[in-house]
Amino acid sequence: MIEISNVSKTFQQRGSAPYTAIHDVSLTIGKGEFVSLLGPSGCGKSTLLNLVAGLENAEQGIITVNGKPCGGPGPDRVVVFQEHALFPWLTVLENVAFGLKQKGIGKAEREEIAKEHIKAVHLSKFTDRYPHELSGGMKQRAAIARALAMDSEILLMDEPFAALDEQTRLILHKDLEEIWLKTRKTILFITHNIREAVILSDRVLVMSTRPGSIKKEFAVQAARPRNQADPVLHHVEA
Ligand code: ATP
Ligand code: MG
Repeated sequence: MIEISNVSKTFQQRGSAPYTAIHDVSLTIGKGEFVSLLGPSGCGKSTLLNLVAGLENAEQGIITVNGKPCGGPGPDRVVVFQEHALFPWLTVLENVAFGLKQKGIGKAEREEIAKEHIKAVHLSKFTDRYPHELSGGMKQRAAIARALAMDSEILLMDEPFAALDEQTRLILHKDLEEIWLKTRKTILFITHNIREAVILSDRVLVMSTRPGSIKKEFAVQAARPRNQADPVLHHVEA
């Protein structure tokens, strides 16, 4: 569970007045909940996600994960950005296995875990390819596999599909939905695409530009029965 309590973030800007991007935001995201965050450009969505990720520090308020203040980046949270940020000198397999090495997992086990996650995003035929040999959608799949391989409880996604064409986007929605149903990770998902937010989430939040706080919140009438043990997916096939 993520709890954001009365959080504010002001950026000191060179040559101009400080700018408050987030003002007194309070928000709770339950364990296993899929929450989308929408709002106009510059309203503070990425700032809020970065605060939860521990990549920025809030000067006011507190953010906790399962009751513990998240001071900086932690193994319980992993981020997927719009730009997949794969290491260009590593293959898909090596990229996905990379974080596991930092965790001290041995080579054979790393590769086994990485292959399992690569399979989940349907990239098994491309494990030995380098990022420049992949399409944008494939790169984003590899980035998702890399994030999932870390086995963190929370997945923070900042416009992960923004750079993709509509067809690839639909396929990745299906992948993400399957992954979510299997793992029940807590997901904070930023998008400018209202349809995507409604299709994927349990709850959609809309931020306002001024003063950078949550304006609206609505629960999504899920197209499928999410709370049942064996849910049925009703997806648009690409
Ligand atoms: P978009 O939809 O375009 O990605 P966003 O909602 O994610 O927008 P943020 O990136 O969170 O917006 O930025 C919110 C505001 O904070 C913007 O006005 C931006 O210029 C400002 N800002 C963000 N990061 C910094 C920084 N490091 N220094 C100064 N100002 C910043
Ligand atoms: Mg942003």
